[in-house]
Amino acid sequence: MNGGISEHGIEFEYAKAKTLADIFVDTFVSAYYVNLKENSLIAYHRDADLEKRYGKLVNYLESIDTYVNTDVHPDDRAKMFEATRPEYIRKRLQTVKEFSVAMRDIRDGVEKYYRFQVIRGADPDHVAFGFTDITEQTRSAERDMAVIAALTQDFGCVEYVSCYDCAEIHYRYDSFFEEHIPYWRQISSFRERLDMLANVLVHPDDRKAFLASTQKEHVLSELKKNRIYFANFRTLADGQVKYYQVKFVAAPKQEGHVIVGFHDVDIQTRKELAALEKAEAANVAKSAFLFNMSHDIRTPMNAIIGFTDMARRNLGNTAKVSDCLGKVDLAGRHLLTLINEVLDMARIESGKVNIEEARVDVIEAATSMITIMREGADTGRLNLQLRIENVRNRMVLADRLHVNQVLLNILSNAVKYTRPGGDVIFTLRQTNENLAGMASFDCIVEDTGIGISKELLDHIYEAFERAENSTKSGIQGTGLGMAIAKRLIDLMNGTIQIESTLGKGTRVVVHFDFRLADWSDTTDEIREESPLVSLENLMGKRILLVEDNELNREVAAEILKEEQVLVEEAEDGSVAVEMIR
Ligand code: ATP
Ligand code: MG
Repeated sequence: MNGGISEHGIEFEYAKAKTLADIFVDTFVSAYYVNLKENSLIAYHRDADLEKRYGKLVNYLESIDTYVNTDVHPDDRAKMFEATRPEYIRKRLQTVKEFSVAMRDIRDGVEKYYRFQVIRGADPDHVAFGFTDITEQTRSAERDMAVIAALTQDFGCVEYVSCYDCAEIHYRYDSFFEEHIPYWRQISSFRERLDMLANVLVHPDDRKAFLASTQKEHVLSELKKNRIYFANFRTLADGQVKYYQVKFVAAPKQEGHVIVGFHDVDIQTRKELAALEKAEAANVAKSAFLFNMSHDIRTPMNAIIGFTDMARRNLGNTAKVSDCLGKVDLAGRHLLTLINEVLDMARIESGKVNIEEARVDVIEAATSMITIMREGADTGRLNLQLRIENVRNRMVLADRLHVNQVLLNILSNAVKYTRPGGDVIFTLRQTNENLAGMASFDCIVEDTGIGISKELLDHIYEAFERAENSTKSGIQGTGLGMAIAKRLIDLMNGTIQIESTLGKGTRVVVHFDFRLADWSDTTDEIREESPLVSLENLMGKRILLVEDNELNREVAAEILKEEQVLVEEAEDGSVAVEMIR
């Protein structure tokens, strides 16, 4: 075969071609020499299958066209056809020494990736062809791309940027950016991309900060401190604001290169802002509460000090003293309620409240709640009723103290917010749930009172929330009752529902599932409710009273002495132990 190819200074003819083929045998799976002018082809080396199928063909165009039409993947046929035309090859090899085309070959149903490489010989008419198997690397690149795509899912736009010249390789396009920025895909300089973004999409108020925070020197100096750097900004498009973030990561082992991702953080940012707003609102509510509370504490304190003073000045006038003491007592009790509620709330909020079950007779408990309510001030003006319905299991295990606290607040609300002549009905109803070893109850408090507005109902379980008119009209309360009740109900796995119509009345349903006290499967130890110690039982007994607060000790000792108890006092535990010894 005439017409040598000058390659790396090797004078090269067919006789020598074998040697070259031996050198390239590792790189190329098949290699050919072609004289385009003569349309001839010589195979240096190819596998047995190709040899068998193409061995007889010596005409270049016939061979290559047969190959393109039978073995090349249909999708790649057009580009291979073009790349193998003699005119095309000549033209391209005028300026470059070689060119290549990536393509797929599909033989016997097996798909493989090849690089088809054309190398110029002495002139563009004398060329060498080689096919290199790049299946493995292509597949691995495809896998890498799949991994990149999966890992960068949250990012709308991802690129690999060289900080030297701002050249970039794009891995992902953000449809939002693409919709709003002309030629977004065609941009190939990262600097231009940032400028376009700043001018077209970034919110005018954030533009300056955006450009400053994405400036090359700034980003590189930040990335020296930390491998990741990000800046947040807002976009403004079609009158809509969106929160975005641009994240820079220093490319590992590639100094001066960064991976950049644009990230839509709108939902998340708005959630954070809402949480912040909520926290701020809670803070405002707390401050308002502290303000109210100091007022609420000061009022009864003034009464206590004022009436004590008045009593002292009227020691000779028994009726006057008694009246003053009655008022001191009332103010003191109110103050105690207030303080207890605040402390309760604080204990619940800090997780210090435990639910402790003991045997409870539900009917007796409901009856005693109504008794407590009747003893309280002002219920005489109302029709206060108790209804027991369908109770089949009287004895249950419950935390009586906390159930009482919940229901007494609801009952006292009903009483407080119902005008004279109205009704307050408390119904205890066992429901028909069929839970093994359990009994379920609805505790329903209905009143014909002033009702609760929709706005307040939405916030009624938040601490310190009260109807404005209940504060103004001077109805006493801190607005903690329902907040405490709700938290206690949650702790006891109960539920609460409130229906109310302004001016008509309110219906509150609290539902509890209690374990049956006499259920035979109950393995837990059942504690008897401790009987209340009555003062009468103490008459003539000798008691050691241990209390560190001197005033409290004095009050307790006086009460006990009035019941003819012999009292000895100790100011703390160690003194008490010593005395017992
Ligand atoms: P506290 O119970 O802390 O002494 P409070 O009774 O004012 O004070 P909550 O029990 O938490 O507070 O109730 C919150 C608010 O809901 C009340 O201030 C009142 O405005 C309204 N409210 C509650 N129950 C009723 C009801 N049955 N009828 C009308 N308004 C009610
Ligand atoms: Mg209340």
